[in-house]
Amino acid sequence: MVRVRIAPSPTGSLHVGNARTALFNYLFARQNQGTFIIRMEDTDEARSSRESETSMLQDFQWMKMDSDEGPLQGGNFGPYRQTERLGLYNKYTQLLLNNNKAYPCFCSAEHIQEQREQKRSNNQPYRYDRACANLDADTVAKRIEQGESYAVRLRTTQEHVVVHDIIRGDIQFETDSFRDFIIVRPDGMPVYNYVVAMDDHLMEITHVIRGDDHISNTPKQVLVYEALGFPLPKFAHIPMILGKDQAKLSKRHGDTTVANFKEKGFLQEALINYLALLSWSPKTEREFFTMDELIQEFKLESVSKSAAVFDVEKLKWMNGNYIRQMEPNEYYKRTLDFVRASELFANGHISEKDIADEERFTKILLTVRDNLETLMDVGQYLQPFFTMPGLTKGINAELSTEAKEILELPTSKDVLEGFLGELKRVSNENNADGNPDSDTYIDAQTYKGLTKIVQKSSGAKGKALFMTIRVGISGEHKGPDMAELVSLLSVGSMIDRLRYTIANRL
Ligand code: GLU
Repeated sequence: MVRVRIAPSPTGSLHVGNARTALFNYLFARQNQGTFIIRMEDTDEARSSRESETSMLQDFQWMKMDSDEGPLQGGNFGPYRQTERLGLYNKYTQLLLNNNKAYPCFCSAEHIQEQREQKRSNNQPYRYDRACANLDADTVAKRIEQGESYAVRLRTTQEHVVVHDIIRGDIQFETDSFRDFIIVRPDGMPVYNYVVAMDDHLMEITHVIRGDDHISNTPKQVLVYEALGFPLPKFAHIPMILGKDQAKLSKRHGDTTVANFKEKGFLQEALINYLALLSWSPKTEREFFTMDELIQEFKLESVSKSAAVFDVEKLKWMNGNYIRQMEPNEYYKRTLDFVRASELFANGHISEKDIADEERFTKILLTVRDNLETLMDVGQYLQPFFTMPGLTKGINAELSTEAKEILELPTSKDVLEGFLGELKRVSNENNADGNPDSDTYIDAQTYKGLTKIVQKSSGAKGKALFMTIRVGISGEHKGPDMAELVSLLSVGSMIDRLRYTIANRL
């Protein structure tokens, strides 16, 4: 039975590197009908917080990596926060001390510092001098009784440790550089390399899959397993994610947390898909995978040894593809938060009433969809449907040079007046039924018919006809497809826009 875990330290927001590690664990668990566990490594109490834990758990949920055991739902191997497990660790420390596999070390921090400095000045690497390794039991008991503070050190007896890694093969480490390393600090807090081994054993973790920044920790953990008589789990160290400059991905590269990408309108599906392809590939050209497909296709053994570069442009491209594949109704629903966060909404140009008209609003959203790389982009493309520069207060009224040139064409006045006349006619026909202009719309077919009439009356055609109508109605020389724009603006609003252009811009 496969049991794997992701063990973040809740000291900030969930980093994409950790999210990718979690994903590989999750995929491995699901494809083996195994168990995916979240454990919070919160022993660094000064930097850990519950807020950070909560936000990380929300991020895992948002990415649809549902855990089987963890701090929220519990499980048979809890607690799932290290600070709640301190009692367990003490028990094992006692055992190691009793078996002489570990020993109390009374060397003061100053003494160790002095030794370090001495070695450094001689250009020699520091090694613990094992001053406390062979104190006799009476001395130890006495010093403890007198209240002297002490760390606990693990006795390292082997010269080498070989770590068998699923991805990297066998790696040999010399133990000299960390001989008799500290497992419990003088303040009583057990260190990461010690607790992680106990936790993984007690939680019956079968595969430790984590970032290869931990590879140099693994031999220490192996020594802890051996001292405690625990069988070893399997290890798989996955390569780091780098920025474009080949340095480890960090804040200075821009967005690096799951929350950043969520806020900016990246879809969970796209982020998962993109992260899965960092240092793993299906060995074919295929790039698009749903979570279920990843569960089928992913292979831990084929994760590459080399680091992957995080390319936000590629992620955007992938995200745009996912946006375009969404069902219209789903697209409408998932875009609304971003519409509500847009400037157009904040300034009252888009209202809840507009949004509530689901059919029309979805059509509007669909016309701009091809432009989107993220859902957050939506705001900038919706402008022509809800405002016209100049007519709408607060929107920059300055026409572009291209738009000005179009309005300067000799036929522009006739085109705009002709089109206005046609809209009024349509509007009057509709008003005969008692419909106010603001509820009257024309479809693409009718729009085509009207442009033919205006073409005849004005003599303008091609760009002189269509671009003039575009600038007259939107105040811009580019934007959405005209037939779509016209069919989504009420006749009343188009009449207002044309009147404004004719009065102020010709
Ligand atoms: N708390 C460690 C980290 O966030 C994880 C250690 C591990 O997976 O063993 O990097």
